[in-house]
Amino acid sequence: MSSEWMADGKCREYPAEVFFPRDGVGVIKAQHICAECPVAARCLEYALENHIDHGIWGGRSERERRRLLRERRRRRIFNIDAH
Ligand code: SF4
Repeated sequence: MSSEWMADGKCREYPAEVFFPRDGVGVIKAQHICAECPVAARCLEYALENHIDHGIWGGRSERERRRLLRERRRRRIFNIDAH
């Protein structure tokens, strides 16, 4: 996946550390910024595809991305999306 979309990320207007928060309040702050980002969906897919463990990507925390990956794996294993 190309990373050209990064140039349009809302996070470019903030210091990088905002997206690597140390507590829950920091996570919420970063997620509010991501909520206004025009490339959030691509950002999230990029983080999932590249197994990026740290930081807020696409408005999702590390824990949320792990949960998403588990859910996708489960859906693949049980072929839930196939009709
Ligand atoms: S979704 Fe968040 S982390 Fe991703 S590009 Fe947008 S502002 Fe940056």
